[in-house]
Amino acid sequence: MFNIVLFGPPGAGKGTQAAKMAAEYNLTHLSTGDILREEMKRNSPLGQQVKALIDGGELVPDATVIKLIGEKLKSAHNTDGFIFDGFPRTVEQAKALDEMLAGQNLEIASMITLEVEENELVARLMLRGESSGRADDSNIEVIKNRIKVYNQQTAPVAEYYRQQQKHAAVSNMGTIDQTFALIAAEIQRINS
Ligand code: AMP
Repeated sequence: MFNIVLFGPPGAGKGTQAAKMAAEYNLTHLSTGDILREEMKRNSPLGQQVKALIDGGELVPDATVIKLIGEKLKSAHNTDGFIFDGFPRTVEQAKALDEMLAGQNLEIASMITLEVEENELVARLMLRGESSGRADDSNIEVIKNRIKVYNQQTAPVAEYYRQQQKHAAVSNMGTIDQTFALIAAEIQRINS
């Protein structure tokens, strides 16, 4: 099993690259953002509970996303591992993920951070908002808040993996294929 975390600020391109990695390496793609948006679309009790937080660019409580991921990890997957996209977003979540994986004799092989300059992030998110219809992509104040929340609450997660010698960073200022090539080279390095 090969489990990897794809990390980076909102708008860094995690969803796009994670989908490509899932296809290339036969991994199960777990995106907490996608799961939560699905709950909102279904207007489920959980969806209703998290809507205001997501629309405002705040994080959903740790316990909520840890439980969601725990359920996904328990269900059967016939792939070669997991790619986590948008999770963990706090050190608390990272610790919980390590524990849940250890319970199944699994671990994270590496975290790869996608690096994009901040003004480019804002431009990409505004553009995405035009087609995605995501409330949190369409409002400049919410976008700025998401980047602030990332810098304050999420960025320390990279340090958590760095301390375990499980962190790498690649630039995502180039094209989708250029970035994917950098990620593939990193995965080859991890696996060699
Ligand atoms: P994303 O699609 O990953 O940008 O996530 C969209 C929104 O969902 C975030 O701005 C948060 O409000 C919420 N969310 C997604 N993943 C998490 C997480 N791991 N922890 C807390 N909130 C999350």
